[in-house]
Amino acid sequence: MQKIDILIENGFVLNFEDNSEIPEPKSIAIQNGKILEIGFPNDLKIKYNPEILLSANSKIVMPGFINAHTHVAMSYFKGLADDLPLMEWLTKHIWPAENKFLSKDFVRDAALHGCAEMIKNGITIFNDMYFFGDQTAQSAQKAGIRAVLGEGVLDAPVANYQNANEIFSYIEKMNEKYKDNELIDFAVAPHAIYTCGKENLIKSKELAQKLGILLHIHLSETRQEVENCIKQNGMRPVEYLDSIGFFESHVVIAHGIWLNENEQKILADKKASIAINTSSNLKLASGFDSFKSYLDHGVNLSIGTDGVASNNNLSIIEEMSITSKLQKALNNDPTILHARKMVEIATLGGAKALNKENEIGSLEPGKKADVILIETDSIEAQPIYNVYSQLVYSLSSEQIKDVIVAGKVVMKDRKLVNIDEEELIDKAKYYQKKIVEFNSNR
Ligand SMILES: [Zn+2]
Repeated sequence: MQKIDILIENGFVLNFEDNSEIPEPKSIAIQNGKILEIGFPNDLKIKYNPEILLSANSKIVMPGFINAHTHVAMSYFKGLADDLPLMEWLTKHIWPAENKFLSKDFVRDAALHGCAEMIKNGITIFNDMYFFGDQTAQSAQKAGIRAVLGEGVLDAPVANYQNANEIFSYIEKMNEKYKDNELIDFAVAPHAIYTCGKENLIKSKELAQKLGILLHIHLSETRQEVENCIKQNGMRPVEYLDSIGFFESHVVIAHGIWLNENEQKILADKKASIAINTSSNLKLASGFDSFKSYLDHGVNLSIGTDGVASNNNLSIIEEMSITSKLQKALNNDPTILHARKMVEIATLGGAKALNKENEIGSLEPGKKADVILIETDSIEAQPIYNVYSQLVYSLSSEQIKDVIVAGKVVMKDRKLVNIDEEELIDKAKYYQKKIVEFNSNR
């Protein structure tokens, strides 16, 4: 018998090429961080001798969720200020708190909290936009989760950077430092077209191209942003970015709600992706639009949670459910974004957005072993006729039991393997007190 690291035995293994509503039970052999074989349980049982045997009886076995847009180190701002318009929320609450508290230690601690929360939600990789990426990288590695860390670029001084040039050299340094790291990638993340002038947008693009890394930007999040862009540049946001060659690099757009058909065509043509953030858009009343023509034009969609300060959770299952239902209502069409399509968007769509569809996003031999196991033996999950329907409309993250990233178990039966959960909770309480104190003194 061949020695392997992990055998996941006898689960409903999701496969986007197979049309069955409940997949036939299969097993997965994992070796050296990758999927070695997917096959019938009896065949794999006699072939492999695993170090870890994970029983997946009555469990859905699927690729880990991909969070295509978030701000992981905003964890401690969860619930700090709610029920406010975007600009008031940002300028009166979030930015003052960030000005006061952002430091390497704060980011490291808050990011660890966010990484833990993401693993509990079955997320195996996240596409981040924030500051002090080195510290977030340390926390992601500690938790055992993959991360694409977009260092935020703004014209104004931020965190400990005096100007964008300092950020560009930081990204270059970090890219070099982590270039052989299995879990960590860096990215260039110009915050938005209203915080980054043309010069820094072009420099961001050039750096991303030079290093062969991702470009990640907030775009067309509000109607106001689109109107201002037309006033200033005589063009809509996607047309403006296209005019400066932005899409010559691999781009992920967060939000992308207010796009006309020409903009959708540009994105499809340039293979740029959108990270949908429905909960955040609804909560901040940034608006929402039908994605039907986006899909018709072939724009790649993925799902983001946005930061917990605006969502206020990191559940991809909840995002799938709310996005699917909202789009059905908007289009007066219950067939749009059906459950199977939603699951594909939350996994393979995310992998395409991050330019990693050859490595992750589906369960196939040779791909990296980022796998989650979800129980279906509970009142909420039974009876089960279609695993995709169950995932999108019935289950919650509570049913996600085991999480494997890069062939390593990072959550076993809902307990985090690499993180002391009590310590995390104590830290969150400590920072909550400090933030309340700061707010009462200003
Ligand atoms: Zn965001």
